[in-house]
Amino acid sequence: MTETTLSKAYDFKATESRIYERWEKQGYFKPANDPNQPGFDPSRKPFVISIPPPNVTGELHLGHAMFVSMEDLMIRYHRMKGIPTLWVPGTDHAGIATQLQVEKSLAKEGLEREQIGREEFLRRTWAWKEKYGGIITRQIRRLGASCDWERERFTLDEGLSKAVREAFVHLYEKGLIYRGPRLINWSPGLRTAVSDLEVEYSQEPGTLYYFKYILADAPDEYLPVATTRPETILGDTAVAVHPEDPRYQRFIGRKVVVPILGREIPVIADEYVDREFGGGALKVTPGHDPNDFIIGERHGLPVISILDEAARVNQNGGAYAGLDRYDARQKLWEDMRQAGLVIKEEPYQLNVPRTQRGGEIVEPMVSTQWFVRIQPLADAALDAVRDGRVRIVPERFSKVYYNWLENIQDWCISRQLWWGHRIPVWYCQACDEMTVSRADPSACQYCGSPEIKQDPDVLDTWFSSGLWPFSTLGWPEETPDYKYFYPTSVLETGYDILFFWVARMVMDGLEFTGEAPFHTVYLHGLIRDEHGRKMSKSYGNVIDPLGVMDELGTDALRFTLLVGSTPGNDMSLSLKKVEANRNFANKIWNAGRLIISSIPQAPRQAADAPAWSLADRWIWERLMDLLRNVEYLFQNFQYGEAGRQIFDFFWSEFADWYLEIAKLQIAEGGSRAFFTVQRLVQVLDTCLRLLHPFTPFITEELWGHLKSAAQEHSDQLKPVASDWEEALIIARWPEPMPVESWETGTIADFDLVQEVVRSIRNLRAEKNVNPGLLIPAILSSPPGPARLLLDEVDVIASLARLDADNVKVVSQGETPFTRPEGHVALVAGPVEIYLPLKEMIDTSEERQRMQKELAEIQAQVERLQNLLAGSFAEKAPAAVVQKERDRLAAFLETSARLREQIQALD
Ligand SMILES: [Zn+2]
Repeated sequence: MTETTLSKAYDFKATESRIYERWEKQGYFKPANDPNQPGFDPSRKPFVISIPPPNVTGELHLGHAMFVSMEDLMIRYHRMKGIPTLWVPGTDHAGIATQLQVEKSLAKEGLEREQIGREEFLRRTWAWKEKYGGIITRQIRRLGASCDWERERFTLDEGLSKAVREAFVHLYEKGLIYRGPRLINWSPGLRTAVSDLEVEYSQEPGTLYYFKYILADAPDEYLPVATTRPETILGDTAVAVHPEDPRYQRFIGRKVVVPILGREIPVIADEYVDREFGGGALKVTPGHDPNDFIIGERHGLPVISILDEAARVNQNGGAYAGLDRYDARQKLWEDMRQAGLVIKEEPYQLNVPRTQRGGEIVEPMVSTQWFVRIQPLADAALDAVRDGRVRIVPERFSKVYYNWLENIQDWCISRQLWWGHRIPVWYCQACDEMTVSRADPSACQYCGSPEIKQDPDVLDTWFSSGLWPFSTLGWPEETPDYKYFYPTSVLETGYDILFFWVARMVMDGLEFTGEAPFHTVYLHGLIRDEHGRKMSKSYGNVIDPLGVMDELGTDALRFTLLVGSTPGNDMSLSLKKVEANRNFANKIWNAGRLIISSIPQAPRQAADAPAWSLADRWIWERLMDLLRNVEYLFQNFQYGEAGRQIFDFFWSEFADWYLEIAKLQIAEGGSRAFFTVQRLVQVLDTCLRLLHPFTPFITEELWGHLKSAAQEHSDQLKPVASDWEEALIIARWPEPMPVESWETGTIADFDLVQEVVRSIRNLRAEKNVNPGLLIPAILSSPPGPARLLLDEVDVIASLARLDADNVKVVSQGETPFTRPEGHVALVAGPVEIYLPLKEMIDTSEERQRMQKELAEIQAQVERLQNLLAGSFAEKAPAAVVQKERDRLAAFLETSARLREQIQALD
């Protein structure tokens, strides 16, 4: 037993944390070219990703696992290409989410935040962050993330807070931030404004209430109006009809009476009114409906707010003041019924706005808030994508991006929370002016009074996340990191936060740094269950990535996520898929063990120059072809397809074919054994390099064993284009050799060997021939293939379980040959195979089998004949057409042979 003896099965539990610690300790996650270190070369262009910062109080879910795997793949690939890479990790303070957590824990003590005060609440929240903030980053480490943890950032860090101040004051000074009354989405439970993006709409059954708006000057005339929220009647300031609606022309300009309250309000004409809805007249409540707010602005209507911040009716609601919004709805409707104002009620499908966080119904309310005037920023962000400074992958999401930015509304950035970046505005008690400042002021900048009070609100969390790609690198300071690593390279995230986050970063980057913050946006899809359903707790179909990693290993999870994904498309995930990839990990391990254990069987060096076998040349060209494909696919963000091709090569070509043949070649001993082992080592080494960005742990571990076994045995057992590096994570990315001229012939020859072996294996399987039984065979073919068969007869015999001493190769036309009696005949391309199994085989069944095969081939012949008779032959490139002609010729030849053999059965 040497030190390089591998355990029988891959033990991911013992391996993953050990490997990760070693990577981190060795500093491999740090950029190879660091502007803060001696020897820095500013001319080397780095590859940089900013991690989408998870909520500091979050716990790992599949969405995190997806972006971590994808970004780590990109980072590892570029690092292996020798490009200085930086992946900046960090977490988001996540205003509402974190505050709610702390409020929950306060509630357990029977406390509310107002009771302990702002200072104590913030102290507790920081303590909460210290205690739980590390969980998510530890879980991200478990996924193998090769981030530079020494550059980890938090959105409430001192530096990032400075960036937020700078951004706010910059926008304010430019006139792009203002304070004013606006209709916003109010969350009565959270007692804060929430942004449009934080509101989700759900289809729910409700009621449409029809009632009468009585004319003030004609108590027996009325306008029929319908509403889903009768309590808002208390805030109505007009009734609107369509200007061309003949039913209501005579009402325009007259007054109607607000039910129960008795206020008189005008009937106005507005084209917004939908004549088909309800009775065709619309009650206008500018204080509680966004569309009505706009109508109100058009007509100069007063805005009446009828709810307080807990969504109870306020003093504007007359007798209903103090009631909860839903109690007020019932009571008012009952009173209206008594007063004879109710027409009818009918069931109605509602589109109910609920908060993403608490899930409670949002109330549109008028409130004084801070806003960003977004249009100028949005225009710049539109241009950046239109002119190609920012590329969105997949491209179809550009349209979604344009559409959103073209219709964007001013952004409400103030939140009535305590946890977050406090708005840097101070109100003077003496002169009422506002001081807006980068540094905390001690006096009013207008009158010098020290009686100033800071705005109690904090900024929307996305205000700081929008600055993330540059604030994490030191902006607004011109730090060495900022100068070298900014703009970053790729921003990778799920398409669901294209607006929340990506668009804001583009706007902010352009505004504050004058540059797009990244050149490429790569959007991955969402992960659904195996039936394509969204994963949610209520369906009970949520897969916990931590559990999967515990059970099946991190590499299996990563490989499944990466290989299952295509840009922008949702993927479905099942444990079965992860299990299959755990099996792949085992396959890699077993192949690695076999190769490593074969090393000592070869001489320490070769006595002669290399004489490569057909299989040696074949696997080499297949590997080079794989390298070419993978490079192309990586350049085009087709990581999933690249992974599938590596998987197929490793499993179906390298392990299933070449490894089997290599065993025979090693058994020959001498230089043949040496070169076979060299090839095995090089192909395995290359595969581990290719797989490393997908499955970093098992590849690093196995590569370490391979390296020490190879080094121990011979200094001639080395990777293709380099010496053994210190670790796989920093090893060179493999590059294909230029194409020479032998490749096509080699591939065709080996294809034929495979075809012969497969057809014999298939027959054996079909006829249940004992696997241990070595059978004689006659292989008959034209002279060219016959020479190949003679060369490869040992390989064929071994793989097809033939009796090697009794395999006869017949070169047609050179050797006299009559079809042997009592044999089963098979056809593989130009080769006829005769096996003495007749006694085991039913002739009619045999005829049926061959006729079925003939029919399949005939179908191919017809298909190709049609193809070649059509416009294809004129339009397609000559080489492509010739290829199809060659295929047709081969099919025709095979079908002729099958016909002969079917006849021979009679
Ligand atoms: Zn003042």
